[in-house]
Amino acid sequence: MPTKKRVSILGVTGSIGQNTADVILAHPDLFEVDVVTAGNNPEKLADMAQKLNAKQAIIANSQAEPALADLLEGSGIQALSGKSALKNAINPDTDITVSAITGLAGLPPLMHALRHSRAVAIANKEPLVAAGQLVMAEARKHNCRILPLDSEHNAIFQIYDFERPEGVSRVILTASGGPFLRWSHEKTRQVTPEQALQHPTWSMGPKISVDSATMMNKALEIIEAHILFELPAEKISVLIHPQSVVHSLVEYSDGSVLAQMGASDMRTPIAHVLGWPDRIETPGRKLNLQTLSALSFEEPDMNQFPALRLAYECLERGPAACLAFNAANEVAVEFFLKNDLDFHGILRVIEYMMQNVPDTLLDSLEVIEATDAAIREEAKNYIMTGRIRTSSADAKRG
Ligand code: NAD
Ligand code: MG
Repeated sequence: MPTKKRVSILGVTGSIGQNTADVILAHPDLFEVDVVTAGNNPEKLADMAQKLNAKQAIIANSQAEPALADLLEGSGIQALSGKSALKNAINPDTDITVSAITGLAGLPPLMHALRHSRAVAIANKEPLVAAGQLVMAEARKHNCRILPLDSEHNAIFQIYDFERPEGVSRVILTASGGPFLRWSHEKTRQVTPEQALQHPTWSMGPKISVDSATMMNKALEIIEAHILFELPAEKISVLIHPQSVVHSLVEYSDGSVLAQMGASDMRTPIAHVLGWPDRIETPGRKLNLQTLSALSFEEPDMNQFPALRLAYECLERGPAACLAFNAANEVAVEFFLKNDLDFHGILRVIEYMMQNVPDTLLDSLEVIEATDAAIREEAKNYIMTGRIRTSSADAKRG
């Protein structure tokens, strides 16, 4: 019998984490689970750790450790807690770590995983956007294989000619357009968190659902593609594809366009990275081509979705702009979800922070964390002191 792959999951209680667990549980002969982590929910973490028969469960909120320890008593699963335990989560000899925390909070354990794991499957796009150079350099240094898990980047990974990249004319990221694709700018002014959380084709965690509604998700993915595939801005484009069947495309110089298709079910890219380089069965939905009546593609309107324009501006301006772009968005989404910022305010905060990009060389985790914290502070002040209400950026778009 072949040896099992040893897997760890950062963010096991989230949407990607649960889907990853589903794939692993469908293949008890292929995988064994080492470490699982969560931010705040000891009940769900203990439940997942037990189902997956993990060796260790780590909860970021140290106040939840006693509850986690109680829940895991007698199970043989070690309970740990705190930021430092999370930062050092991955044990040597891990075959694959799934990075599925949300936000830049996932950066420290991701860096640790790159040092201790043979491969890291990255769904957590924010560290790639905010600290892409650092992440890629660490992976190269430790000979760790990065497996893109975001569905678009996983699609590109499957169809990209890495042996002859000079033949690639461009990659095309597809975007569903989110829940407000056909809404006027005026109509989206009143959007509530509940409406923004209803994605038409994907079921995901709250932050990425809001990002999909503002098109920030695609904007972050433009930067993610630039980092993962080392592509210049002019070789990355976006097309709106409301059916979410084609997950992305690669266009070659001879006119060939390759696409990866599948159901809108994250268990396909997850099965792909967990099985890689082999193919394994997904326990999820499969695409039924006969039921498709049409596949449509359209150019996104940069006025309706300023996030896309700003992403290209970030690529022109460099890593500090990318860091500010991500940090401002994380802060703004948090305020929006608490009903403390209106939907259009999200982009206003991001545009404001883009005008105040720090002039800092981001060459270490410490510098990145300190600069990120300062940007977040300024973004919070901008919202809480009411300066945001006098901003004219929103009015200009009309
Ligand atoms: P989610 O909110 O459902 O889950 C997030 C996980 O991270 C949870 O386990 C949570 O406990 C943990 N977490 C959150 N904050 C934390 C913190 N400060 N410290 C430690 N742990 C923390 O999110 P999700 O939808 O699963 O998305 C996870 C990541 O994957 C995001 O970066 C998202 O953009 C990306 N992604 C998600 C999908 C999807 O279908 N959900 C698709 C592509 C990419
Ligand atoms: Mg995606």
